[in-house]
Amino acid sequence: MRRPVMLMAAFLLVVALGGVASAADTLEAVKKKGVLVAGVKDSTPGFGFVDEKTREIVGYDVDFVKAVARKLGVRLELKPVTSASRIPELIEGNIDIIAATMTRTPERAKQVDFSDTYFFTGQKFLAKKGSVRSLADLDGKRIGTAKGSTSEQNARKALPRAAILSFDDYSQALLALRQGKVFAVTTDESILASLLGKAPNRDGYEIPDIQISDEPYGLGMRKGDRNFVAFVNRTLVEMEKNGEAKKIFDKWFGPGSTTPLKRNFTITADR
Ligand code: GLU
Repeated sequence: MRRPVMLMAAFLLVVALGGVASAADTLEAVKKKGVLVAGVKDSTPGFGFVDEKTREIVGYDVDFVKAVARKLGVRLELKPVTSASRIPELIEGNIDIIAATMTRTPERAKQVDFSDTYFFTGQKFLAKKGSVRSLADLDGKRIGTAKGSTSEQNARKALPRAAILSFDDYSQALLALRQGKVFAVTTDESILASLLGKAPNRDGYEIPDIQISDEPYGLGMRKGDRNFVAFVNRTLVEMEKNGEAKKIFDKWFGPGSTTPLKRNFTITADR
């Protein structure tokens, strides 16, 4: 009687472990289902936003997951996420990867695994021209940003007396600025510059040279999803080597774009 019970227990254990292993292997799962579901922003100019003509979500982040899907030989499906919803959506299994202006932080790394850095920027402020000369000009003011972002956390630390107002996305924060409901908007310079590039009356606003943090972006994957992380990192390094990564940067932020930025990074394997 004993032996069959033990055999059964061993069998169940193997099945359970097998189940866990395959659930965590997004690379195999994506190949099998033939589609990569990526969580992207849909109202963050430059990175993930709706193209007025095609009505499709386009941007720097989208082009990177497009390259990953192409290398996998699968279709790409884009699912809009916000700063606050992106990690829960990944953990719940509604998306396979996050490509949504997400900064790599040790705190987030407890919940998700990050790819190597594929974009690098820093947190700044956008305000009416001439209104901000130093950080002190911002303290005690109403500052707009997005819920669930590092921008929100960094601003609280850098401006302890300011009222930090968190919106669902940065377009809404910009609207609040234009309506005079906040004194400034704070987030990554790359996002602020892209928002400003598209804003009507852009000449009335500026991004003063005040940086409160470094923001290296990583693609987010489920914790422990080793094969997938390795595949994505191989793809990124390959894209850097063959010039595709720089091409994508130039397409969205190069000299000919509405928002020229300096490419102050190269993608390198950091593990
Ligand atoms: N990169 C920052 C972050 O990951 C700000 C931009 C965003 O909210 O996505 O929180």
